[in-house]
Amino acid sequence: MVSIFDNLQAVKGRIQAACLAYGRDANIVTSCAQPSDACPPHTLCLLAVSKTFSADAVRQAHAAGQRAFGENHVQEALAKMAELADVQRTDGSGVQWHLIGPLQSNKSRPVAEAFDWVHTVDRLQLAQRLAAQRPPHMPPLNLCIQVNTSGEASKSGAPLHEAAALAHAVAALGHQRVRLRGLMAIPEPAPTLALQRAQHRPLAELWQLLRAQGLALDTLSMGMSDDLEAAVAEGATVVRVGRAIFGTRHSPVL
Ligand SMILES: *Cc1c(COP(=O)(O)O)cnc(C)c1O
Repeated sequence: MVSIFDNLQAVKGRIQAACLAYGRDANIVTSCAQPSDACPPHTLCLLAVSKTFSADAVRQAHAAGQRAFGENHVQEALAKMAELADVQRTDGSGVQWHLIGPLQSNKSRPVAEAFDWVHTVDRLQLAQRLAAQRPPHMPPLNLCIQVNTSGEASKSGAPLHEAAALAHAVAALGHQRVRLRGLMAIPEPAPTLALQRAQHRPLAELWQLLRAQGLALDTLSMGMSDDLEAAVAEGATVVRVGRAIFGTRHSPVL
């Protein structure tokens, strides 16, 4: 029997230990800042990746204080949102939904209408659609550019050499309906801490470059169950953790 409560404590302990080991002064939070109050320095958000797990698992994590949840598949996420309607609140104590899987343009409308964050923007046209479809009464949709840092053709994300131009173009869409918050990547699994750090570094370097160029980015989304220490060492502000919180995934990711 998996204890989601115990696992959450253990993951926070790992993040804390990594912060200590790599000299980061971090305040670990369970939901990501909304654009109205851009992320204070030193904040490190734990995003609980609930893909393939039940609404009840999300409910247990929420009861343990977790607020930010990541989903890969739009239909699956919408079904969970409907089941969890009773914990949706606008005061920050409800569930904050992050899309971390690839998004086809023809599925953008329900995402614009229901999610708080999209980590997987890989083309300008998608950001434009999300901006046009974000309901005016909602706060801006938070966006990250997904970057294909490994360079493999099979991987999603904007190519590294196009990502800076894309980030500037998305930032230029303004702050009313969407707001560019940062960058995200999913590097290849690697066996050692040194190799994992090397794989996270290009994203961190691009993030620093874009900030130096004047983009107000506060989010660097990288690190999962097996490499979160390496991501913390390289400056992640959001780590996306699934299995270490919810246990082994039995059903395939759609
Ligand atoms: C599944 C997934 C995660 C979490 O992976 P775990 O190994 O379960 O921690 C993080 N990010 C993305 C984009 C994912 O698809």
